[in-house]
Amino acid sequence: MSRYILGIDLGTLNSCVAIVEDGHAVVLSDDGRTTIPSAVALTSERELVGHSARRHAMTDPRNTLVVTKRILGHPYSSPEVQAARERVAYLISPSPMGGVLLEAGGHQLTAVQVAARILYLLRDIASRTIGESVKEAVISVPAHFNEVQRRATKLAAEYSGLEAVRLINEPTAAAFAYGYRRGENFTLAVYDLGGGTFDVTIMKAQGDRFEVIATDGDAYLGGEDFDHAIMDWLAEEFRAENNKDPREDEAACTQMKEAVERAKHDLTEVESARIELPYLLKLEDGNYAAFERELTREKLEELCAPAIERTRELCARCLESAHVRKDDIDAVLLVGGQTRMLAVRDTVREFFGLEPRRDINPDEVVAMGAALYGYSLSADRLRDEAEEAAEEAFAVALKQTAKARKVVEALDADSQGDAELAQRLSHVMAEAEALPPMVPAESDQDLPAAVEGLRQEMSALQEKLEQVADETTESASEEKAQPLADAVEVVGDWLARAERASKEAEERFEEAEEHAKARKVELSDVVSHALGIASAEDLLSVLIEKNARVPAEKKGVFTTNQDGQTEVEIRVFQGEDPRASENELLGDFVLTGIEPAPRLTPKIQVTFSLDADGILSVSAVDKRTGAQQGITVKEPLGLRGLSPEETESEID
Ligand code: ADP
Ligand code: MG
Repeated sequence: MSRYILGIDLGTLNSCVAIVEDGHAVVLSDDGRTTIPSAVALTSERELVGHSARRHAMTDPRNTLVVTKRILGHPYSSPEVQAARERVAYLISPSPMGGVLLEAGGHQLTAVQVAARILYLLRDIASRTIGESVKEAVISVPAHFNEVQRRATKLAAEYSGLEAVRLINEPTAAAFAYGYRRGENFTLAVYDLGGGTFDVTIMKAQGDRFEVIATDGDAYLGGEDFDHAIMDWLAEEFRAENNKDPREDEAACTQMKEAVERAKHDLTEVESARIELPYLLKLEDGNYAAFERELTREKLEELCAPAIERTRELCARCLESAHVRKDDIDAVLLVGGQTRMLAVRDTVREFFGLEPRRDINPDEVVAMGAALYGYSLSADRLRDEAEEAAEEAFAVALKQTAKARKVVEALDADSQGDAELAQRLSHVMAEAEALPPMVPAESDQDLPAAVEGLRQEMSALQEKLEQVADETTESASEEKAQPLADAVEVVGDWLARAERASKEAEERFEEAEEHAKARKVELSDVVSHALGIASAEDLLSVLIEKNARVPAEKKGVFTTNQDGQTEVEIRVFQGEDPRASENELLGDFVLTGIEPAPRLTPKIQVTFSLDADGILSVSAVDKRTGAQQGITVKEPLGLRGLSPEETESEID
């Protein structure tokens, strides 16, 4: 198994993959580019993922699946999926099971399958760079991702042949990358504005203890929304002039989106950008309207002001729930491509009263943090593995040296000219071959010293071998000289192997030392949405509060409300709305096998456990009998695909 655990930032628009090499995070690139578009294009002949898919989107947006992270883990009927339907060019339809199907190139894919293809590409880039197949990753998710979205991410990893050893919140990963080597105490705010989502996180570091205090955000606030605000303006301008709305035309939308995004990027550098769309839309008379507009930075900022203001409100709310004052913040990190916009930087600077850090790359820091976290999780395992490998290599060196020693000693004794040399030689060689495997002695604890000792013996043996060979060749007759020369060659090979093995042992030992030096960090995060159970009146009774530490465990006692009832249904929701059904349904848990009894008498204790990935498991026990209660879980709609068999036809 590969010793690498990838750090993966699976973004709405762009993804990124990193590994840790010699204790440092390294971002990997595909053709020299470290940000990889989260896009999948399907045609009848081909499947494109990443850069090629992004290019394909320009000419064939209908068959290019983009921004699918906004759909991941949501049921068809959700506002998220309905909003996405309005905006994307490909077809989104309900699956027979209530999930969501995305159509491209005559195929139907779930959002999980799309994510799996992107993860597969990242894994492939890493495997090609490293030269071995990688099987594990720490994958980052937006802090506000709910339980179903997290499970969907883990499932996508599984489909791509990766085990997601841990999910880490994106802002937490960024903070981790920043604080990993500092070993200081500080309080940090992470402002993460990407393509699709906004997250803000307040975090404290005390040496090697990292603790998220509070997190907040909006799953529908990102660069995409900035683009749409500009597009709306552009479309209105066009309509005023030509009495036609370009938003109703798919090709026009693609053109506008492209032009708008380019202008938005340019305005980071220049004061004004020209948007020229000569072929935007055909008019009634069959001609194109020559449409051009100047977008000034001022206008851009005016159009995006509501979105930026919303991030400011969320920052304020997050500080409040963290009980942290602005003055207590020591550093502000900007993450996500949209934070390059000057007005965003200005807002953040003004809000926190601090210049945001400039020494981090907003596109790469999340993947780097995820990789460092994977490394820190696995450092002990890596050290043990390297130590074991060092010992194995040393054992090989010991064995080869012992074989050589046996033959050289025999030759040395024979060097006076034994008549039966050839025969005895083959006997000794066979004996050497039959030597048992060697294990390093307890006294070889100090491996480098032991290797050094062995090395000296090896070179002494080599010298002796040459000397004995010379002497014997002189005194032996010709027919005896050949077997001797052969033996000398074989023993020389043994010694060469011993040399290589001892070198390997040294290298692996150094590696183990390097891993032993890795900082053992403790990371504690919080849950971004409350978890609760629906009451009969559709009220959400909260079991685990928003911003509670994860992992978390909470117990609740349930009973029956009818005589002789043997089953109780528990509906678990995640979210902040007091009306249960307005939140995300995580699942139906049906408690079965309750002993028939008068109503309200059974006492069934249900335990909710939220693990470090933010994934829930439920168990139940009958308080009277102590018997474990049966639970049936219905998959949430947001995870349902085409059919149960869907998972079997997955890649690799
Ligand atoms: P995600 O993590 O959601 O995939 P990214 O962090 O890659 O997204 O951010 C992508 C967003 O950042 C896009 O909306 C893009 O237009 C925007 N962006 C990138 N560079 C700039 C820039 N120089 N100025 C303004 N916005 C930018
Ligand atoms: Mg991102």
